[in-house]
Amino acid sequence: MILACKQCDKLINVGHIGQQQRAICPYCRAQLLSCRNNQQQWISAFSISSLLFLFSSLYPSFISFSQHGLKQEISLWDAFLLLGSNYNSVLASVFIFTILIMPLLVCTMVLITQSGIWTKLNPHNARKISKLLSYITPLNLADIFLVAVLVSAFKLMAYAELTLGLGFWSYVLFVFCFIELLTLIDENELWQRQQAQFEPKPLMCGHSAKSQSLKQCHVCRQLTSEQHCPRCYAKTYFRNPQANARAMAWMMTALVLMVPANFLPIMNTINLGQNTFATIFSGIVILWQDESYPIAIIIFAASICIPVLKALALFYLIKETKKCTNPKRASILYRWLEFMGKWSMIDVFVVIILVSLVQLGGILSVEPHIGIAFFAIMVLCQLMAVHSFDPRILWDKFNNHE
Ligand SMILES: [Zn+2]
Ligand SMILES: [Zn+2]
Repeated sequence: MILACKQCDKLINVGHIGQQQRAICPYCRAQLLSCRNNQQQWISAFSISSLLFLFSSLYPSFISFSQHGLKQEISLWDAFLLLGSNYNSVLASVFIFTILIMPLLVCTMVLITQSGIWTKLNPHNARKISKLLSYITPLNLADIFLVAVLVSAFKLMAYAELTLGLGFWSYVLFVFCFIELLTLIDENELWQRQQAQFEPKPLMCGHSAKSQSLKQCHVCRQLTSEQHCPRCYAKTYFRNPQANARAMAWMMTALVLMVPANFLPIMNTINLGQNTFATIFSGIVILWQDESYPIAIIIFAASICIPVLKALALFYLIKETKKCTNPKRASILYRWLEFMGKWSMIDVFVVIILVSLVQLGGILSVEPHIGIAFFAIMVLCQLMAVHSFDPRILWDKFNNHE
């Protein structure tokens, strides 16, 4: 089977790959395909168990917290209700979408693609499912949420006694199954089962698809020179339309939002009737003074260093598209951007967890503040910026020089 690499656009003859093997692009080192024993059975098994563990983590106690004889116990479902009814709706929707709705959608759609319905589906409908899957899977924040639970537990341990409940442990199992599931989903394998690939005219491997006037369908990876993909009927492009301009616009918006996100308070702690407002930076300073050095470093890296480095790296990549001398290095940087993106969400989840959990009235309670909503939108804008960028443009200039 001949495929075009998603990151460098070179045509590569993948041939047959064995069980437990991965095919890596020899030019840019991006992953092309992976194969595992009984892949389809594993996909069904992991999506069903993800759903079961997710549902069983909703109602039992997630975490409980006691101080001076007062006990507060919260389940995930209570946290959704509390945030939805009392506070900021941006924060509530980010939380409910990433923790509940997104995994539910992914598991349901994966189960459809594994069932008999998928092969009988009209390509237009199959395309909608496949497109939605490719848009929402990068938004998986379940693992980040788990890290945030541990960070908040460390933060609170100094003040109170904490117990992790059944809900928490089911959620851990859910995250494990869901991440395994995401690594197994492969749009190429999905589409091979929906409809066989059309073989275009003779192909020259090792050269870019664009140099042979071929476009790779962004939904099903079919190669074609037509305006619309012959397999899924999606509109085809050589490169993401206005990739650089869109990436730049999203990143500039993120940079503007970085100002209120960092300077406005993200939460307010009410301790014995006294208000203490914390910004992202002052929160890190307090952690450092409390000698929680590892947590302070994690939060500093995730909330301050990563967003700034991401902006710089993306501007560098956009500059590189004008004249790229080392596209391999630039591709590695791009994959780093894709991977690091979501870690900045840790602080948003920490605030959400503290707000849901610490509600002991005037004695000790935590309220979210507007800064955290700016911060969440800023991180989402950065994710969109990286998503809009097209790494194949980096290789275009380089190939022209060859
Ligand atoms: Zn490649
Ligand atoms: Zn297609």
